[in-house]
This record gives sequence, structure tokens and C-alpha cells, in this order.
Amino acid sequence: SVIPDYLAEALGDVASDTSGELAGYIPELAAADPEHLGAAFATVQGEVYGAGDIDTEFTIQSISKPFAYALALSDRGFAPVLASVGVEPSGEAFNQISLEDGTGRPLNPMINAGAITTHALVGPEGLKPAERVERVTDGLSAFAGRRLRADEAVCASEMEHAHRNLAIAHMLRGHDILTEDPRTVVDGYTRQCSVLVTARDLAMMAATLANRGVNPLTGQRVITEPVARQVLSVMFTCGMYDAAGDWATQVGIPAKSGVAGGLIGALPGQIGIATFSPRLDPHGNSVRGVSLFERFSSDMGLHLMGVP
Ligand code: GLU
Repeated sequence: SVIPDYLAEALGDVASDTSGELAGYIPELAAADPEHLGAAFATVQGEVYGAGDIDTEFTIQSISKPFAYALALSDRGFAPVLASVGVEPSGEAFNQISLEDGTGRPLNPMINAGAITTHALVGPEGLKPAERVERVTDGLSAFAGRRLRADEAVCASEMEHAHRNLAIAHMLRGHDILTEDPRTVVDGYTRQCSVLVTARDLAMMAATLANRGVNPLTGQRVITEPVARQVLSVMFTCGMYDAAGDWATQVGIPAKSGVAGGLIGALPGQIGIATFSPRLDPHGNSVRGVSLFERFSSDMGLHLMGVP
């Protein structure tokens, strides 16, 4: 069909771009094959189209953040989550140690401070840490429509170097935004980031958001429509860290990137898109992924605010 041909051609055009760097701060990620390249589309009707490495597993990393946010909103309701984590774009790097003045509340759930807090809000209050990790993995699996598991080596590798996230979690504990042992929460959050996915999985997860909470493959309602709307809105304003404004104007699709090289976009009512290419730009976004999304957006007129 014409879509896989189009995708293959798009991959061919970006393949020669070897700029960018692998994420260096997690040793296991620094050892990844930088040449992987794949792109997948999943429609809200459940069709999947792809080209390149769409069945290669890699860790989800920060792309878990919008989905964990969705689970926290579902499990606890909007008010308690919003009381702990804001929805304001920070315009800052993913690991910036920034909390709202006075309250200590993280600015949004897409930066690490907000994502660590969000992880602790998944599941009913009082859930044991291991059960919470289970709930997160089950939830991510429901979005993907397939049973997912964590990469223990990447998880252990990141935990050994998680000083910055631990510092953030201790600050959150100091402000009583976190009420548990910071180390336990960072351990669970890191496990969440270590869940293995493929570009095909990510496209389906994004399609579940685009389909307003119903997985197009399994038909399961994973989250409610108001939760899907909240998550897509936060992805639109905060999903690309300190490149969120550039992204909103150039690409115009709610999106989220991860440091293992994954990138998702969700076009409400239409499709989920995922790309995989591990070399990152200085913002921590996949270089070839960003190029691919710019191209998809302009070729197909996907910008939510209309054609130029
Ligand atoms: N595990 C990473 C961290 O918290 C996720 C960052 C990312 O993918 O941007 O440092």
C-alpha cells in the first residue's frame, strides 16, 4: 500500500543524518545501536502501518510520563493530582530542579519533578511500591494492547546514576509533595522508564490517546475522555521540554519524546504516530524523529492549527 512506501521513503531521506548523541547519562543507553530507525502510524480504526525498525524493543523512558499521568488522573481524580502537579510549561530541560515558588509543586507532569510525583499518585492511596509498579506496567500494557515488561539492566544502570532524580525527589519530600521515602519513589519511577516498547507499541499507545481513551486494537477503554483530553493538552504545551514552543509552531501535534530515541505524536480523532532513532539533539529529542515529524506534519497537513 502507499503508506508503507511513503514511510520508507521518509526514512530513507533522514537516514544519512547521523548528527546528535546517544543519551550519555545512562551507561546502558550509551551502548545502544545508534543506527536504528523506524516509523509507525496507528489509526483510530486499529490499522498499523510502518517501515524500518518498528519491532525493535527499546526503553520507553519519558514517553511513559503522559501515560502515567493518565493513570494517576484515573486512579485519584483530577483535584488531588492537580494539587500536587501543575500544568504550566516550564520551558526548561527535562531534569531541571525547578519547583513552584512557595508550594514546591512541580510545574508540569512532563519534567522529571512532575513525573516522579505523578508516579507516586498512580493506584489507590496506600498501595505498596511494588504493586504500584505493577499497576503502571499493567496500565502501559493496556495502552499498547500487549503485555509489556521492564528492562532490568537499563533500570539498574539508571538507578546507579540517579543522583539528580534522587535530589529532586528529596526536595519534593521536603515540601511534602511526596509523602514517602524518596528513594522508593525514584526506584519505581525508574522502573516505569525502563519498560520495553517498540515503535509499533508506541504508535498504538498514542492512537489510544487519539481515540479518546479506547485502544483501537483491543477495544478496551483504558481512560475516560476527559483524562485523554487533559493528557493531550499537557503533551501539546509541555511534551517537548525546552523545545515545546518550536514544536507547537513547526509540527503542531501533541507529542512526547524519550531519551532512548522514541517519539510519539497523537492527532485527536485520527492517528498515533511513533518514530524511533536513538541520537538526540541538545534538548534530548531524537534528531531524526523530529525531522520525520516535521515532514509528516507538512506533507499531510497534520498541524492542529491548520495549513501555513
Ligand atoms: N529516565 C529518564 C530520567 O528521568 C527519562 C528522561 C527522558 O526520557 O527524557 O532521567
